[in-house]
Amino acid sequence: MFLNSFAFIFGAVVGSFLNVCIFRIPAKTSIIKPLSQCPHCHHPVRFYDNIPLISYIVLRGKCRDCEGKISWRYPLVELVTAILSVLLFLRFGFTINFLIYFIFTAVLIVITFIDIDHQIIPDVLTLPGIPIFFLLAIFVVKVPWSEALIGLLIGGGMLFTIAYIYQLITKREGMGGGDIKLLAMIGGFLGWKSLIFILLVSSFSGAIVGIAAMVIQKKDMKYAIPFGPFLSAAAVACLFWGDAFIRILILGY
Ligand SMILES: [Zn+2]
Repeated sequence: MFLNSFAFIFGAVVGSFLNVCIFRIPAKTSIIKPLSQCPHCHHPVRFYDNIPLISYIVLRGKCRDCEGKISWRYPLVELVTAILSVLLFLRFGFTINFLIYFIFTAVLIVITFIDIDHQIIPDVLTLPGIPIFFLLAIFVVKVPWSEALIGLLIGGGMLFTIAYIYQLITKREGMGGGDIKLLAMIGGFLGWKSLIFILLVSSFSGAIVGIAAMVIQKKDMKYAIPFGPFLSAAAVACLFWGDAFIRILILGY
């Protein structure tokens, strides 16, 4: 119970930092300086108003200085990160693997929200992420190197092929280059078998949300819904259910 609470607080604090990354990476400003400030009145946020989750509740979602609205996205990101931290801790225990999977999840959270806001997946995350997570997979998590390498190549290559064929047939650009690099990063970290699970889950959930959005908004949503969040969510789900899925797929039970 004590360790679970610690994992929750740890996740919330990291989530607070992820908010800064989500906000500043697309703006190409430093993620370290300056300290956080109110987007309305630019008053620096006091340290006691910068407590993850709690400050939002205490301030009732308003800036202490100008009463400007604070987006509910901030506590949401903190809460999601905190919950995933606890779930990963329950699954992997107090291990180095927990830490690595948590970092992987944190990067995917940042990618998800940046993609939702800007329809881009920044290269500054995926390009270093591809070799770093590939090496972590082989040397720390001990994924067989051939599985990781094939995962990286298939992850990058398969989406590229699909995107190319789609473009050839429809003469329109479908999947973005960012999605391709993201899936290469995921495949190189989790191995090629995981890609089966991830592509199934992400395309099904993406299709359901896409159709629902089309019905609700009554218009073509092809370009409005980014695919990165679905790939990211499926990759995180794979950390929990991927092994079971592969076992059922191969052994049938
Ligand atoms: Zn303010």
